[in-house]
Amino acid sequence: MARHSISAVIAFLCFSIVGFARNQQDQLYSVRVSVSTAEQRTEIANAGIAIDKVFSDSIGFIGTKEDIKRVEGLGFSIKASELPRRALDFPSDDKNFHNYSETVASLDEIAKNHPKIAQRFSIGKSLEGREITGIRLSGNPSRDSLPTAIFMGCHHAREHLSVEVPLKLAEYLANNYETDSRVKSLLDTREVVIVPMINPDGAEYDISSGSYKYWRKNRRKNDDGTYGVDLNRNYGKGFGGAGASSSPSSDTYHGPEAFSEPETQAVRDWVRGRKKATVLLSFHTFSELILWPFGHTYDQVPSKTDQDVFETMGKKMATWNKYTPQKSSELYLASGDTTDWAYDELKIFAFTFELTPDSMFGGGFYPGAEAIEPTFKANIEPALYLIEKAENPYSVLNESVDPLRLIP
Ligand SMILES: [Zn+2]
Repeated sequence: MARHSISAVIAFLCFSIVGFARNQQDQLYSVRVSVSTAEQRTEIANAGIAIDKVFSDSIGFIGTKEDIKRVEGLGFSIKASELPRRALDFPSDDKNFHNYSETVASLDEIAKNHPKIAQRFSIGKSLEGREITGIRLSGNPSRDSLPTAIFMGCHHAREHLSVEVPLKLAEYLANNYETDSRVKSLLDTREVVIVPMINPDGAEYDISSGSYKYWRKNRRKNDDGTYGVDLNRNYGKGFGGAGASSSPSSDTYHGPEAFSEPETQAVRDWVRGRKKATVLLSFHTFSELILWPFGHTYDQVPSKTDQDVFETMGKKMATWNKYTPQKSSELYLASGDTTDWAYDELKIFAFTFELTPDSMFGGGFYPGAEAIEPTFKANIEPALYLIEKAENPYSVLNESVDPLRLIP
């Protein structure tokens, strides 16, 4: 007992010295916090917590003892249980998930098998030098003049299902082009660009040691010796605001400045170059949500018409995948994400999907390979709808509005 007490004191002192630095070997906990309003949830997000699930009377997150202490320090009551680490490079049970090299190989294979409609490209390199690779799909050789739909996955390392869905979408479009008149007509009149793994360094790190690490960020070595910047807090709109942490050890560390990371720089420059991009979908996991801007403020986007487009499209897509459609800030505030930036700077109708499962009780970030196929199937129609509406998102309102507002 005495030995335990001494250990506890030493552990406490260590935590005190390093602030809330998250060591990579720290025991992680699945945590529930009793809260019910967006303001309370934002208070927790402001403490550097990456909220994974919002229930009507609580939130769930994965964190260390230090994270738990910080939330308790805010006066909230919590329940925590130790998180088991599943044995795992993807473990044999999860071998159908694609690691980085398998993702690149799959994109290569699609391009090789469908050279007329599919070309692989790179948007740049990750911090550790991996090509951030994507695929362009179109039956129309005239590039850069077609309405463009953008799909991305895996800003967050542990969200491996968010790689599989856009990857399968690329396969689906390529494989059905010749035989499905709807797919052919969409690809003949539009450009679809898909980058399934924005954060390859983090995704590889998460599966690098035989057990999942619940890693979220990229692999930046921060000045204080901790690792990682949250790429979905590193974009330019509302950077450094609510729901993003200035503490490098936090799971929601926003980085030293907007677009400090090569991964977000690559996305920014590449998306800016897609002059006719009108719709964007960034896949994340989990919670089964369809989210739209703004996330950094409770305010609506300035244009009521655009707000109506977001709501109409979001609710329409929810009829197929049965996810909950809502403005992002209804959950809690989060600043510096992809969609706020893409809409604010480029007026792209940008959505975040939080994929399967609905909660941590369905497997959370690691729902198992059996989740891949049904999750993809549930999201085929929403993806085709977005591609269809890329020509003129405003058409969902049955209005005649200038379809494409290009970068000034
Ligand atoms: Zn995410």
